[in-house]
Order: sequence, then structure tokens, then C-alpha cells
Amino acid sequence: MNLDHIRNISIIAHIDHGKSTLADRLLQMTGTVTDREMKEQLLDSMDLEREKGVTIKASAVRMIYKYQGEEYEINLIDTPGHVDFSYEVSRALQACEGAILVVDASQGIQAQTMAHLFAALEQNLTIIPVINKIDLPGAMPDEVAQEIEDLLGVPAEDIPRISAKAGTNVEAVLEQVVQQVPPPKGDLNAPLRALVFDCQYDPYKGVIAYVRVVDGQINGTPALLAMSTGKTMEPLEVGVLTPAMLATNSLHAGEVGYIATGLKSVQDLDVGDTITLASKPAQERLPGYKPMKPMVFAGLYPSNPDDYGDLRDALEKLQLNDAALVYEPETSQALGFGFRLGFLGLFHMEIVQERLEREYDLDIIFTAPSVEYKVVKTDGTVLAIDSPAQLPDPTQIERIEEPWCELRIFTPAEYIGPVLDLVTKRRGELKNQNWLDTKRVEIVCMIPLSEIIVDFYNELKARTRGYASMDYTLDEYRPSDMVKLDILVNHQPVDALSVIVHRDDAYHKGQKLVSKMKEIIPRQMFTVPIQAAIGNKVISRANVQALRKDVLSKCYGGDVTRKRKLLEKQKAGKKRMKMVGQVEIPQEAFMSVLRLE
Ligand code: GDP
Ligand code: MG
Repeated sequence: MNLDHIRNISIIAHIDHGKSTLADRLLQMTGTVTDREMKEQLLDSMDLEREKGVTIKASAVRMIYKYQGEEYEINLIDTPGHVDFSYEVSRALQACEGAILVVDASQGIQAQTMAHLFAALEQNLTIIPVINKIDLPGAMPDEVAQEIEDLLGVPAEDIPRISAKAGTNVEAVLEQVVQQVPPPKGDLNAPLRALVFDCQYDPYKGVIAYVRVVDGQINGTPALLAMSTGKTMEPLEVGVLTPAMLATNSLHAGEVGYIATGLKSVQDLDVGDTITLASKPAQERLPGYKPMKPMVFAGLYPSNPDDYGDLRDALEKLQLNDAALVYEPETSQALGFGFRLGFLGLFHMEIVQERLEREYDLDIIFTAPSVEYKVVKTDGTVLAIDSPAQLPDPTQIERIEEPWCELRIFTPAEYIGPVLDLVTKRRGELKNQNWLDTKRVEIVCMIPLSEIIVDFYNELKARTRGYASMDYTLDEYRPSDMVKLDILVNHQPVDALSVIVHRDDAYHKGQKLVSKMKEIIPRQMFTVPIQAAIGNKVISRANVQALRKDVLSKCYGGDVTRKRKLLEKQKAGKKRMKMVGQVEIPQEAFMSVLRLE
């Protein structure tokens, strides 16, 4: 199709504001998917997306929309990876000229609305703001329109007010896309350059690259070259996504589609790479994506050591689907063989945990998450450390630096007090308060990353009745008085329970941890002392009293069902226990540092 009649767009939104629902409606309205198929295919995968927070299968969908008697090709590019991460979203945006920004009429602008918006503006995209969920009783479309006008300068009355769920006024969104989003530019006669914005493995066709062709064209199935890896490909077919793959055997500048590359493994192709013709390669590759750096780390162990192989397989598979996940083998004295995982952030970690448990049905133990510290040793060397176990002897440490971030919290004004209190308690410093209107405010503060990875989000939600949202970006490393807090169970330090904490919080956290352990660790046949220590110094202790031998005899002769219940309860409990030395420690103990408040 002629370039003037192509629009490449993405939909961005804070989670749950209606991105997927709007995508559904657009597909239906343009007849891309029939009403019958809608139920059978898409909603299913959308459900999956909603439930797991991961992207739908199709990374791009071509829609044909008739506007004023002319047909337009609208490519809707779904944001790959997790909707929560602006840097992941930005790579889809790089393949577009415009973005539909969906804002929930009952909630207004939220933290991730802003994060995604900034990412879109960075790519110079045309933004089409849309107010969704006007059918909700709590909808405040006028207020939200004003917020958007103040933010973007788009006149409030020009912003479509829709219900994606009911299908109300959705047409207005497509009209604005055609009118306002510029058509793609690109030189049809230049050497081929296609940006790979996502890829996926297809059991029949091998690695499928989703591409935006920036320059040139592909006709037929010529030999291709991935510019950064230097790998050549003998593609099987090229085409567009409707959302099913439809071979067209040609793609040209400005278009979005797929290349069945013929490669056998997803590892053979990097997302962000440029594909060109092997016979007539382009001179320069397109700007790729910034490599993503993990920010949060945690140990992962199988509950049952025999499952180590299964866990490794699961991680391998998961990584194919989630390039941002990194891992390496790790060993713990207490937990045996496992892995150290790196995540982009909190939401990412939650999703990975959830997927491992649900999709791979594994019984796993995660240790408390940690950030990456910089440890400057007395001999001048600098170590990057993301696990308490790696910390050198205190006498060799000159100083420790920890990552700080800029945290932006959106909240109704009545919760400013409780939010600031939380920020201060977590060593945060207030930087700015921006009023969105008379009722809502954006709080900007600087805070150590380690303070927000441990139960911060839940606490924030609890203090604001679920109304606040947050987003953060890494800022700088600052020197900090951090110490390693060890937990000793029955006089043995359990490495997987150690945490790195600020010295000021060490006593408080030590006490809380010890009393929590006392609750969690079941009574054994002997008394089990539990201690928190910094180096050799014990700062808190408690005992798990020995089990009274007559625990069952109490039921003897009495209620049989009660006795059976007790035994069954003990048996069920056993499965999720880990023997450490002579003591059984339940799985939840290893994450208990997350729930200290
Ligand atoms: P996403 O996370 O942005 O993709 O949001 P979803 O499309 O998954 O929608 C989140 C929730 O809001 C779902 O329960 C939808 O049914 C609901 N929803 C989406 N659009 C509307 C709407 O226009 N009106 C109402 N009442 N609910 C909506
Ligand atoms: Mg969704």
C-alpha cells in the first residue's frame, strides 16, 4: 500500500485502563477479526494476558480501515514484554509514528500513564489521548480531560470519550489516528533495513521475527543478514499479521510484518537487530535498543533438590519468552543447588515467580530480593554485589554504595500524609509535589532502591486504599552504612536467610525477623534458638520451644477425625519444608523478610 495510507500505532496505558479491551474493539470494528473468532481466539489469549500481565501472542496486527471512502492500513503494534516496563514498551514504540494513550475516566492519569507517555514522546510519536470507561458510575471524564489538556495541550473537547467495553465512540479513535498520526517515511529504493522489535518461536516455521521495515523492500525470500550478529538467514516466507500469519511475500518501507527466518533457536536473533539483504547489505544498522540491566536479584531453589533439572529447563524456556530475565547457577549451604536471578524490577520479579509456579508447576523457594551494591574494598578494588553471601569480610570493606532512585507516586491529596510518612520511614527524601488538579498530586522523591523492593508497593496501596500508583527510575549510587544481618537457626547461620540492611534498621529488622521466624518455624523435638547477628554480635534472640511429646496422646481415645486432621496437617506442612541442619524450615521463612511491617 501507498505510504500515505499507512499508519503504525501502539496503544499505551496504565495497567487496567483498558488497552487490551480497546485493541479487541479495534480489531472487531475493522473486521480484522469476526465476532465469532473474537470469542474463540482473541479473548482467550487476552484473558491470559490480563491474568499474567504478559503480552498477547500477536505482536502486531494489520487492520484495514475505510475512512472517507479510502482504505487505510493501520498496523497496531502491541507492546512486547511486560506492560509495566517503559523500556520494554519503548522498543515497540520505535516501530510506530503514533500512540493511543488510554486513560481510565474513573482513575485519571496514573504513574505508568506518565512513564509510557514519556517513552512515546522520546520517540517523537504523535499522541492520541483517549478517555476510556465513560460508562462507569465513577467516571469523571471532564476532570480527566482537563488533566490531559494540562499535560499535553490537547484541547479537552477534542479528546475522544469512549467505552472500550461497550464499543461506544471507538470509531472516533480510528478517525483521529488517520487524521493526526503521520504516515511512515522511508526510502523504498535504499538497501533493506528492517527493525526486529520482537521475535517468537513457531513450532512449524522456526524463529519468527516481527519487523518494521524502515528502508527498502523484501520481495520473495532472498537471503537475509542480521547486522549485529552477522548471521545469515534463508527465510521461508514473509508476510503480515492479521493476526494470523498471512504470507504476502513482499514487505516494503513503512510496513510492519513478519519474517519466518528459518533460524532454529530464538537465541540466534536479537530483538533490536537490523535485518538487511545478504546480497546488498545496508551500510549502517538502525539504532537498536539499550541493553536492559537487571536491578533486582534473588536466589531461586527447588524445594526438592531432585527438581533442579526441571527448574533449569523451566528457566531456559522462560528466558526465550522473556529476554530481560537473566540467571546463573548459585549454591547455598542451606538450600543446595539453585540459581541467582536478575530482574528488571519488582513487577518483573513478581511475574517470573508467578509464571514459574503456574506454568511450570514447580515448588520453588525464592530468597529475599536484593539490589546490586558497590563495595569498595580497603585495597581499592570495587565489587558489584547482589547477594549477602558475596559480601567480603567487614574488615576488608572501605565503604558500600547503594543505588538510589527517583520515585514518582500519584495519589489523591487526602493521602499525602500517609504517603510521605512511608517515604520517610524508608529513608526517602521528598523532592517535589506537583498538583495535577485540586484533588490529586504527584509526589516525587529520592529513595534507596532497596527500600522499595521490599513490600513498599503493598504498603503504599494499603495506605491509600489502593488509589496510589508508582513508577521509578534508577538514579545514582550513594555511600551508605550497610551491614549484613545473619540469622542463626539452632546456632547455625542460614545463608539463604541473610539480608543486607542499613545499620540504623538492623536492630529493628533483626528483632522482627527473629519473632517472625519463631512464628513460622514449627516446634521440633528439641528447643531451637533463633538469633539475629551482625558479625559475631547477636542482636536479637528467641526460642522455638520443644514439642511436647504428648501432642497426639491428647487426642487419644477421643475424636478420631481430629487426630487424623492433625496428622494430615503435619504431612501437608512437610512438603513445603526444607531441612536445614536438624531443623525443618518452611518455605515461607525465606521470604519472610518481605513482610516485616
Ligand atoms: P489493560 O491492562 O490496559 O490491557 O486493561 P484491560 O483491557 O485488560 O481492562 C482492564 C479491566 O477494565 C477489564 O476488566 C475490562 O473489562 C475493564 N474495561 C476495559 N474497558 C472498559 C470500559 O470501557 N468500561 C468498563 N466498565 N470497563 C472496562
Ligand atoms: Mg492488557
